[in-house]
Amino acid sequence: MVELWKKTLNWQPTNQQQNQFQQLYQLIIEANRNLNLTRITEPEEFWEKHLWDSLRGTAPKQEFIPVLHEDASVIDIGTGAGFPGVPISIIFPNTQITLLDSTRKKINFIDTILTNLSLNNAKTLVGRVEEIGQENQHRQSYDLAVIRAVGNVSACAEYSLPLVKKGGLAVIYRGSWTEEENQSLESAVKQLGGRVELIEEFTTPLTNSIRHCIYLRKVGNTPANFPRAVGIPTHKPL
Ligand code: SAM
Repeated sequence: MVELWKKTLNWQPTNQQQNQFQQLYQLIIEANRNLNLTRITEPEEFWEKHLWDSLRGTAPKQEFIPVLHEDASVIDIGTGAGFPGVPISIIFPNTQITLLDSTRKKINFIDTILTNLSLNNAKTLVGRVEEIGQENQHRQSYDLAVIRAVGNVSACAEYSLPLVKKGGLAVIYRGSWTEEENQSLESAVKQLGGRVELIEEFTTPLTNSIRHCIYLRKVGNTPANFPRAVGIPTHKPL
């Protein structure tokens, strides 16, 4: 896949990073027998839908977000089996990554990944993002928030923007994208102290599937009432 990495991201993994990707795959396949972590288990599908997709989202217009080359603080909200956060922590060893999920058993599994892959720049956090986003130690503290497959787009904006510092970025990973979603996003983002910086459509390199990534810039403070209480952002979207 080295050529595909080069062609699509103008980047290629080191041998160590390739080994870490391979180990990650094996650990997930093994754990999948007992934990319901992912339906994506074929090697090529895993590469495209988990590894490539995770990293492509951090490279709008095929250039990695500049702060990732420095010592960015990143939070992955609803990380599940570790996507997109674990691939990001593999390729950006200077960033500090927090992997958040509300399910304890998923976080326990990620702890074993972090140990096995010697990922010292990542740590896990168990909790609901609606509560974490109201805690001083996390609120408006991250340069970058990433969120994939955790709910409707307004909820994703409400989960992510309160955690981002002023000037920072939230990336919402989506498959398809509709005009209706566009409108609900605009109204949500305005209320949360953000602005829609870019909506990028691209196709995946193996199966030519359509993807969208939404890049939200934090331009003001998020009002104290956001995120709202657990469950409200998904049931009553902004
Ligand atoms: N991001 C991963 C991916 O794309 O493969 C996992 C997506 S999975 C469909 C959604 C994950 O978000 C689950 O692991 C779930 O436990 C977590 N989640 C859902 N709502 C959450 C919330 N309010 N706070 C924290 N985690 C949440």
